[in-house]
Amino acid sequence: MRYSALRILLEGIRGHTGWKPVWRDPAPQPDYDYIIVGGGGHGLATAHYLAKIYKKARIAVLEKGWIGGGNVGRNTTIIRSNYLLDGNEPLYEFALKLWEGLEQDLNYNAMVSQRGILNLCHSDAQRDAFRRRGNAMILNGADAELLDQHQVREMAPFLDFENARFPIKGGLLQRRGGTVRHDAVAWGYARSAYSHGVDIIQNCEVTGFKIEKGLVKGVETSRGYIGAKKVGVAVAGSSSRVMAMAGLHLPIESHVLQAFVSEGLKPLIPGVITFGAGHFYISQSDKGGLVFGGDIDGYNSYAQRGNLPVVEDVLEGGMALMPMIGRARLLRMWGGLMDMSMDGSPFIDKTPIEGLYFNGGWCYGGFKATPASGYAFAHLLATDAPHETATELRLDRFRAGAMIDEKGAGAQPNLH
Ligand SMILES: Cc1cc2nc3c(=O)[nH]c(=O)nc-3n(C[C@H](O)[C@H](O)[C@H](O)COP(=O)(O)OP(=O)(O)OC[C@H]3O[C@@H](n4cnc5c(N)ncnc54)[C@H](O)[C@@H]3O)c2cc1C
Repeated sequence: MRYSALRILLEGIRGHTGWKPVWRDPAPQPDYDYIIVGGGGHGLATAHYLAKIYKKARIAVLEKGWIGGGNVGRNTTIIRSNYLLDGNEPLYEFALKLWEGLEQDLNYNAMVSQRGILNLCHSDAQRDAFRRRGNAMILNGADAELLDQHQVREMAPFLDFENARFPIKGGLLQRRGGTVRHDAVAWGYARSAYSHGVDIIQNCEVTGFKIEKGLVKGVETSRGYIGAKKVGVAVAGSSSRVMAMAGLHLPIESHVLQAFVSEGLKPLIPGVITFGAGHFYISQSDKGGLVFGGDIDGYNSYAQRGNLPVVEDVLEGGMALMPMIGRARLLRMWGGLMDMSMDGSPFIDKTPIEGLYFNGGWCYGGFKATPASGYAFAHLLATDAPHETATELRLDRFRAGAMIDEKGAGAQPNLH
C-alpha cells in the first residue's frame, strides 16, 4: 500500500478501515540466501538495500526481541556528518545524503528535520581544531560554517556565554545536520524491506552459528536451525556476545548510554547544540521535550539502564551550558547498549569465517550512519567487496596499525 495525502483523505472518509499491517509475521523458512542477524536500524536498512538496490532475494532478518526495541528506538535522534578523518567522513556524508531522500525512498514519514547542529567551542585552540574539521568536511562534500560568538549569540541567546570557566567563543555549524524520528526509521525500513520480499522474523534469537571447515552454513536460533549461504551480523551492543558464538573476539566493549527527556516546553532550542567543554548535547523534540545526553557509563555492561553518577554528570553539563535548564522538570530517562570500538570508529567487514560478515562498533555514531551503514553492508554482502565509503572500516585495522582515531583519544572507549 502506497502512503500519500490522498490515501489519508480516503481513509478518513471511510473510517480508517482500509489500512493494512505493514509487515506480516512469517514463520522462518528452513534456509535463506541471506540472513541478517539483528532487526535494528542497521539490520533492517541492510535488508532493504540488499533487496531493493542489489536485487537479492530469499532474505531474512532475525530479531531476538521486537523491531525498534534496541538502540534504534533509544537514541537521541541526532544526524550529522561532521567527522574529521577520511576513514569516516565519506560514509557519514553518504548517510546524510541518503537521509535527505529517505522518506521518498521508503514512502514513509520519518520526520527527517535538518534543523542544524552547532558544536560550541570554548577556547582558541578548540576553534582552530573546528576550523580544521570544517575544512575536512567541505573537502568531503559536506557543509560546514565556522560561527563567531556574535553569530552563536543570535542563534541561541539563552546560552551562558560569559561562563568564567567555559566562555563560548563560537561554534562549528552544519546546517544539514538535525534529527530524525528514530522508531519511524525502524518501521520505515521494515515496511520497505517486507514489501521487497524480506522475511522479518521477530522473537527469534540467534544462539549459535553452524560453521564447517571455516564456512558458515547457518544459524541456531530460539526457533530452530535456519540454513544460510551468507550471514550478516548487525547486533550493535550485543556484538561481542554474538560474535563470540562464532569464536571471534572483537576490539569492542559494551557500555550503557543514557538519554533524557524533559517536560514539554515552548520552542526554545533552534537545532542540536553540543557543549565543547563537557559531554552534553541537546535538541528539542517536536512535542517540546528537551532531549539530551552525555557520557557513557564508565563500566562494561549489557544492562539497558544506567547509573546515577552519569545522570548527575550530564545534568551538571547542562547547567554549565544553559543554567535555565535547571527550572525544567525531567520527564523520563532510559539506557541503550553501545558497541564501543577501541578507536571510536565502526566496522563493516568480512570475518575470517567464509560467508560471515560483521557490522558494528558504532559507538555514539550509529543512528546517523544507519542508511549508509545498511547500504555499505548490503554492498559487501552482495558483492564481497567493500563499498567505496567503507574501505577503511576493517576488522584488522588494529593489527595493521591503521586505526581511525577520530578523536585522537587513543584506545579508550570511555573517551570517544
Ligand atoms: C541513549 C542513546 C543515545 C544515542 N544517540 C545517538 C544519536 O543521537 N545519534 C547517533 O547517530 N547515534 C546515537 N546512538 C547510537 C545508535 O543508537 C546506535 O549506534 C545504533 O542504533 C546501533 O545500530 P542498530 O540500530 O542496528 O542497533 P539496535 O537497534 O540495537 O539493533 C540491534 C538488534 O540486534 C538484536 N540482537 C541482539 N542480539 C541478538 C541475537 N542473538 N539474535 C537476534 N537479534 C539480536 C537486538 O535485540 C537489537 O534489536 C545512541 C545510542 C543510545 C543508547
